[in-house]
Amino acid sequence: MNYRAEYIWIDGTRPTARLRSKTRILAAGAQPPVWGFDGSSTDQAEGHASDRVLKPVFSCPDPIRGGDDVLVLCEVLNTDMSPHTSNTRSRLAEVAERFAQQDPLFGIEQEYTFFKGARPLGFPEGGFPAAQGGYYCGVGSDEIFGRDVVEAHLENCLAAGLGISGINAEVMPGQWEFQVGPLPPLEVADQLWIARWLLYRTAEDFGVSVTLDPKPAPGDWNGAGAHTNFSTGAMREGYDPIITACEALGEDDKPVEHVRHYGFGIENRLTGLHETAPWNEYSYGVSDRGASVRIPWQVEIDKKGYIEDRRPNANVDPYEVTRLIVDTCCAALEKAGQV
Ligand code: ADP
Ligand code: MN
Ligand code: MN
Ligand code: MN
Repeated sequence: MNYRAEYIWIDGTRPTARLRSKTRILAAGAQPPVWGFDGSSTDQAEGHASDRVLKPVFSCPDPIRGGDDVLVLCEVLNTDMSPHTSNTRSRLAEVAERFAQQDPLFGIEQEYTFFKGARPLGFPEGGFPAAQGGYYCGVGSDEIFGRDVVEAHLENCLAAGLGISGINAEVMPGQWEFQVGPLPPLEVADQLWIARWLLYRTAEDFGVSVTLDPKPAPGDWNGAGAHTNFSTGAMREGYDPIITACEALGEDDKPVEHVRHYGFGIENRLTGLHETAPWNEYSYGVSDRGASVRIPWQVEIDKKGYIEDRRPNANVDPYEVTRLIVDTCCAALEKAGQV
């Protein structure tokens, strides 16, 4: 029997890339081959030389179609097989390879917001819901909007075999979170992109849309982030490496370099209000949800574990945030002999 492979890739839209996908029918037993697409329709090529190449890098069962069907995440290449400029995965692959012996792991908390028409799901027509307070991890139809979609998405991620580690309702109504990891850098980023695709695709069937906009409702409503939890083998065994990593993220021009790649519109979310640190001031602290980087309380007690970079926006490219954190922290740990 033939089967269906949904080829998924990240396009060239700026400032924030979008997901694209198309279907290929393959003979039973055949591996998904390299394929192509029209790059002039995705901001990845000019019309006169529009062909771009899709190179499969990760695949999993397709929980929507079921059966033998699969999802196939791809890198975008030029026709000479060099990575396209929009291909941030190939840049991460280099850095991940260089520091693989430090065994870096990531858990990414993906926040997102459902929209129905022009309003966040749960926002009444021509007005606002009750102020924030009861929505986070809430229960009841006056506080929770979209749980049926969230449950269907979770089911799909599990059926696809993704390393999803939890879900929760967020501080703003219609806002939710799922977590992927802990996994190595390439794995966490690949799986997060697939989990995002499944989220959009699942919500489609419920007639709601999803946005990763970091500040979907202006004013006194929480923004949407992608807290990025990080450890190396040494950090999972001792406290000095935890401090080295926190300090490394604050050195010289590192805070600016990181934040510049942590998602478009970050200065609108990292204002210093709503459980954020100002985007242009780096800080770290134990249990501090107003710091750029938080050391969880349990980590301070155990004197080992991981750190949480709270700065990345919901719309961050996971290939970029994991590349920067590995590059900055693993180089510092290597220099300090803490590997
Ligand atoms: P928060 O308390 O900030 O809401 P969450 O429970 O939402 O935290 O997310 C924490 C994430 O960190 C999870 O994805 C979890 O798997 C991940 N994590 C746990 N331990 C580690 C570790 N040692 N290294 C990296 N990530 C980790
Ligand atoms: Mn969380
Ligand atoms: Mn959260
Ligand atoms: Mn968090």
